[in-house]
Amino acid sequence: MSNFKFADRIAQLPPYLFAQIDKVKKEVAARGVDIISLGIGDPDLPTPDFIIDALHASAKKPVNHQYPDYEGLDEFREAVARWYNGRFGVELDSTNEIVNLIGSKEGIAHFAMAFTNPGDLNLVCTPHYPVYPIATSFCGGETKFLAQVEENDFLPNLDEISAEDWERAKSIYVNFPNNPTAAMATPEFFQKLVDRARETNTIIVHDAAYTEIYYDANKKPMSILETPGAKDVAIEFHSLSKTYNMTGWRVGMAVGNSQLIAGLGKIKTNVDSGCFQAVQEAAIIALDKGEPYVEENRKVYRERRDIMIAALKKAGIECRVPDATIYLWAKVPAGYTSADFVTKVMEEKGVVLTPGSGFGEPGEGYFRISLTVPSERLEEAAERIASL
Ligand SMILES: *Cc1c(COP(=O)(O)O)cnc(C)c1O
Repeated sequence: MSNFKFADRIAQLPPYLFAQIDKVKKEVAARGVDIISLGIGDPDLPTPDFIIDALHASAKKPVNHQYPDYEGLDEFREAVARWYNGRFGVELDSTNEIVNLIGSKEGIAHFAMAFTNPGDLNLVCTPHYPVYPIATSFCGGETKFLAQVEENDFLPNLDEISAEDWERAKSIYVNFPNNPTAAMATPEFFQKLVDRARETNTIIVHDAAYTEIYYDANKKPMSILETPGAKDVAIEFHSLSKTYNMTGWRVGMAVGNSQLIAGLGKIKTNVDSGCFQAVQEAAIIALDKGEPYVEENRKVYRERRDIMIAALKKAGIECRVPDATIYLWAKVPAGYTSADFVTKVMEEKGVVLTPGSGFGEPGEGYFRISLTVPSERLEEAAERIASL
């Protein structure tokens, strides 16, 4: 009998956030309950037809059937540069400040391999997307968490990082608009972060997956690269996933400091062979022509947000009105932990929520709602939660 032991990096993984929830969910489903899942951050709306049509045309070209270049088509990187300039007023050199990704998660995970040595320290602002500390741990690095709490509008307090940690840290991971808290960075916050990072030679890894899902055109989320000096220290990860309902397509980009992009490129050229060119060509069309469709998406999410916020209020559940993302970050009623509350709502009401504690310790006392089901189902879910 063979008996293979997992490598330490796998054996040390924290328990999977949704494992326990999945188990309860299966039990509830087996009872025949009509389950409403507000648990997963995956848009339910389809990819717009014009993008699918573009993929269809591109898939028919034999040149696209061969290995792509790991860094992405020139035309893709030029489209990203155009889009960043149009949306954020940020100038990017498509030859060395942009790399194509097979989804931004791929890039975030691989980036740590390029700059994190065993024993290196990375700072992660939490609640957080799990891949940041996991990628660090896969490289033998150490993570220190920096809490993002409600009293500070869910922004990290950079003054809590000791001078010693600033000196020691290789990178700091930030994500705005934030999953799960929906917090948005202010220009002052980004400026302070960039200044500190430049003073201490620290890499800023900014995950910007949700900049296009905003609710108020007067409060558009920023790219960190809009901040003076950011290009000296920052790499920003972006993605077509949430913007154009393309999570399954696996296409994104990293942009920013050319040395950071080159490091990521060195890893990628050794471990993957790039993103299907037909997908990249469809992505170019999405970036160039997608804005009217994204605006329609925003309207849908805004309606859903308002329905759910009103329903939570009626149920006596506290929740800030988010200015961006597809999430609500709500307070667990008194007397429950996040996990208890989420388990009870699922067992008794068949509504799947995500416990805030799954995103890190400061998430305890909160739960996340994904606005990824139609309004009628959201209303139904809200009624069920209120009747608990
Ligand atoms: C959805 C999401 C992404 C995007 O991931 P892709 O790999 O590009 O699909 C990145 N970061 C966060 C925080 C997300 O929630």
